[in-house]
Amino acid sequence: MPNPSDEIKAKLDIVEVIREYLPLKAAGLNFRSTCPFHREKTPSFMVSPEKQIWHCFGCGKGGDIFSFVMEMERLSFIEALRLLAKKAGVALRKADPALTSKRNRLLDIVELAAKFYHKILLDSPAAAGAREYLRERALTNETIEAWQLGYSPDAWETLANFLKSRGFSEDEIFLAGLSVKKDPSTGSGRAGFYDRFRARIMFPLNDINGSAVGFTARVMPGREETEKMGKYINTPSTMIYDKSKILFGLDKAKMSIKAEDAVVLAEGQLDAIMAQQHGFTNTIASSGTALTAEQVKLIKRYTNNLFLSFDMDAAGDLAAERGIAQAQGAEMNIKVIEVKGAKDPDECLRHNPENWRQAITDAKPMMQYYFDKVFAKYDKADFPGQNQAIKILLAVIAKFGSKLEQDFWLKKLSQEVDTNENSLREKFNEYVKKQISPAVKNNEAVLKPAIDLKQSREARLSELLLALALKFPAHFEYVINHLGPDDLVGPANQRLYRNLVIYYNKLIDLWTREGGNFDLAINYLDLKDWLSNPENLALADGQTENQAGDYNCASSLDRLVLLADKDFYDYSAEQAKAEIINIVANLRLNYLNARRREITKLITAAEKENLPPAEKSEKLNNLMGELKALAEEINLMEIK
Ligand SMILES: [Zn+2]
Repeated sequence: MPNPSDEIKAKLDIVEVIREYLPLKAAGLNFRSTCPFHREKTPSFMVSPEKQIWHCFGCGKGGDIFSFVMEMERLSFIEALRLLAKKAGVALRKADPALTSKRNRLLDIVELAAKFYHKILLDSPAAAGAREYLRERALTNETIEAWQLGYSPDAWETLANFLKSRGFSEDEIFLAGLSVKKDPSTGSGRAGFYDRFRARIMFPLNDINGSAVGFTARVMPGREETEKMGKYINTPSTMIYDKSKILFGLDKAKMSIKAEDAVVLAEGQLDAIMAQQHGFTNTIASSGTALTAEQVKLIKRYTNNLFLSFDMDAAGDLAAERGIAQAQGAEMNIKVIEVKGAKDPDECLRHNPENWRQAITDAKPMMQYYFDKVFAKYDKADFPGQNQAIKILLAVIAKFGSKLEQDFWLKKLSQEVDTNENSLREKFNEYVKKQISPAVKNNEAVLKPAIDLKQSREARLSELLLALALKFPAHFEYVINHLGPDDLVGPANQRLYRNLVIYYNKLIDLWTREGGNFDLAINYLDLKDWLSNPENLALADGQTENQAGDYNCASSLDRLVLLADKDFYDYSAEQAKAEIINIVANLRLNYLNARRREITKLITAAEKENLPPAEKSEKLNNLMGELKALAEEINLMEIK
């Protein structure tokens, strides 16, 4: 039997594999490109199809198909083996446990979970409602199969029990993001886990190579109002799932994108699924979040032509909000598709696929689209209108990565509003100068550690808690087990905490793998380094990169570390623990009270709402139920 790596090499062509990452140009018998591993202007990266090797004459790196994928994707050999085996259609035998990596184990778990959910969707009576919903949305059986759509049962341990029966541990299931840690201080007092996804329609999220790495889960239709967790929940960041690097459907669409030299980016998962079902196979979805630099890089592997199908009517700086500025900065050709007579592509396609085809054909260059929108809204014939329009358009023009493109649109704008091109250019330069670069902004934050005097008591407590947890990391676990990012007050605190949790989980993971043989301390320099890399950082749901960018994690860290030294320099570990417990309870109580006020408002609103009696009483019952649970928890806390 041939060894699997030889089998893979025999089936794959190194040129085709590398071409998925880099634009290769023929150079005699070989191919060349600029090197992805060092900065250079003249290409010195060579690939030999004959020898099936690559080498860079600039930095000296080189090797075979495996070493390329290892370098490029930062994988170990066995991880690269898994990735390439999939590509080559080579089945790997059950690997020697000593040879599996944690990453591969997590990939196995998520893949198995996807199959599990899929089977439940197809066969289980409990999934009848989900099947009905997908039928109503006009998804065919083939589509449901191809996308491995699934249903998670309405139970606490079904998935975990299944995965355990297949040899996976609770810890592994947790690290794959599929379970949630129970709070040991409530219920039976025993620590343990429960399934994260319950009673939801499951959409597997694949990486670009088609491996399932996580899920986005939609609440069952009809339960949207009462579901506290929200309409969609996602796998949290894990070792294999980083949402900033995933585009929904790209694994299926990439070859069409390349062939058509264009990609259509829609907002919702169902938009992408329906478009592909109707033969628009170059459609992917952003899942409603802002496009990240990593995602733009992924798309640019296949095309430079981006068709956007977003709801662009929303107010505000659209380019920034949707991360379109990233694509502009990367000098992509962007066009905007306007869907007429339907609320989204999904609806348009269900109604008549030809309308969608027409909408793509009629797509406008992005800037033209903006011009039309802005001048439809502001009257360019009078000064205030013209001034407002200029302001908005200059901000968009400033985001182009190409100076030539900026010049082109400045000229066009001056013609459009019939104003002197030079004075417009002056205004433009002023605007650009005012956009302080992030590096300068960061420095300012460090120089002026903004102590906000007006900050609320809860914001101050949140800060103290983070400072304590940083100084006494042994108690950090306690904080994680009791508070989510939303329990903290203040966007900077929330953002830092969200990312500290990710960092801390990575640390624990490493610590567990090393058999616990190093002291579990948070190394400041390492943490700062990690927080300084925007690629590591997670956003809050619904938050955009730009909004988050106002809260620099590394400078928050600096400030809080100094604050800890100032306020807690003489604290013992016990004192710190007592203080942490105290603050955690305070913040939790604050959150519960806020939620209680919110629910009370919802009840008042629901009472006034004109609903069928049965629906109304169900809605009210649910809200009352939550209110009661809140009141009980609040009572308990106040007794303590
Ligand atoms: Zn190089």
